[in-house]
Amino acid sequence: MTDDRIFQLPTREIPKKWLNIQPSLPEPVPPMLSPADGKPVPLEAFLTLFPMGLLEQEVSQQREISIPDEVLKVYSLFRPTPLIRAKFLEEVLGTPAMIFFKNESVAPTGSHKPNTAIAQAYYNKKEGVKKLVTETGAGQWGSALALAGAHFDLDINVFMVRASYEQKPYRKIMMETYGAKVQPSPSKDTQIGKKMLEDKRNYPGSLGIAISEAVEVAATSGGTVKYALGSVLNHVLMHQTVIGLEARAVLEDLGLYPDVVIACHGGGSNFGGIAIPFMEDKISGKRNTEFVASEPLACPSLSKGIYAYDFGDSGKLIPLAKMYTLGHGFIPPSVHAGGLRYHGAAPIVSLLNSKGLIRAEALRQKETFEAAVLFARTEGIIPAPESAHAIASAIRVAKKCKETGEKKVILFNLSGHGHFDMQAYEQYFAGKLEDYEYPEKEILKAEKDLPKVG
Ligand SMILES: *Cc1c(COP(=O)(O)O)cnc(C)c1O
Repeated sequence: MTDDRIFQLPTREIPKKWLNIQPSLPEPVPPMLSPADGKPVPLEAFLTLFPMGLLEQEVSQQREISIPDEVLKVYSLFRPTPLIRAKFLEEVLGTPAMIFFKNESVAPTGSHKPNTAIAQAYYNKKEGVKKLVTETGAGQWGSALALAGAHFDLDINVFMVRASYEQKPYRKIMMETYGAKVQPSPSKDTQIGKKMLEDKRNYPGSLGIAISEAVEVAATSGGTVKYALGSVLNHVLMHQTVIGLEARAVLEDLGLYPDVVIACHGGGSNFGGIAIPFMEDKISGKRNTEFVASEPLACPSLSKGIYAYDFGDSGKLIPLAKMYTLGHGFIPPSVHAGGLRYHGAAPIVSLLNSKGLIRAEALRQKETFEAAVLFARTEGIIPAPESAHAIASAIRVAKKCKETGEKKVILFNLSGHGHFDMQAYEQYFAGKLEDYEYPEKEILKAEKDLPKVG
């Protein structure tokens, strides 16, 4: 093992293919169902929302899919991202474990999300689409799509959850700098937005509401506007596998293989991105890697949710997906990790969870900020509150290694930096951070609300 700390692949070693886990899964991903008749929705029905290129990827059984040259070119803005050995963190923890993290915060918008935004913009552009509409919570996804829109000359419209719109004005300016149009959600521009605004409690908005607004705009556009989703879907997880593929290549060079792979989990895309390239070996029995999905105790979809068909949005506009869900009516408390406030989970991650291939861990907000501050003071990077969950889980494993003396190789994904989240840090330092715990009785309500299919 060298003393090197930062492992940076050259541009020419950006992965040339995405890895599709679908053919390697223990069983097929359950299809999306129509809430009307409970039957699988034909692929063509989604054409009002997504271009065919992405829909084909959504159901593809091909193990690898070539990354188009145009996408690779834009990836070269920031890929390959560095793999970093967190030696300073290891030292203060006094752990015999080796901790590596993939630094996705170096993307221009500050998170892993451009990995799929760039690909999605490309396939839309290729099929003649001129405008994309989407939602954003904390602003990471909207920024990523805005950046991608600038590169592929697409108009980007973003519905931003109003609570974030008001809390994070600079995210909005960032999106506008890239040329996107941003409006707070719920808005009066859509039927669903107007309906939601009738109830004052909906005024701050939620991701589920913003998704419904964006979907409504695309679905009623007569085919001129398409919709883009930043997480959850199979093709999104596949685009994110560049994270794990790069990490695997570097570790292989070092003669290492991770014993533990960790990522935070909101909709499942950065978790899938780092985990999938190592997951095949686990499914086939070749390796016994531990996979940890780290989520907030305030919104513990994988840890406490029900594995069932549910709506992905509050307005019930999109078909049903089988996933771990806290119920489509659940509005998660406003923890600072906005990207982790989603009631559901990716169908692929849900399937893996149901088979016991991953371990979900729900953390208190306080523990994640403690980890974030320790990380900032050792490794120098101020993490996004979302990524702080992965750091906290990695620290838990590293501390355990100190007790047992195990020299485990820990790999976690640093999904983003927290430069737009200073207000959250301010509240933490002022001791004003509230600690939310998911109220267990909510799950009974969610169970009653589940659509009766599947
Ligand atoms: C959006 C986001 C997440 C959560 O989304 P996933 O699809 O679960 O990865 C996590 N971290 C950051 C920095 C994000 O922007």
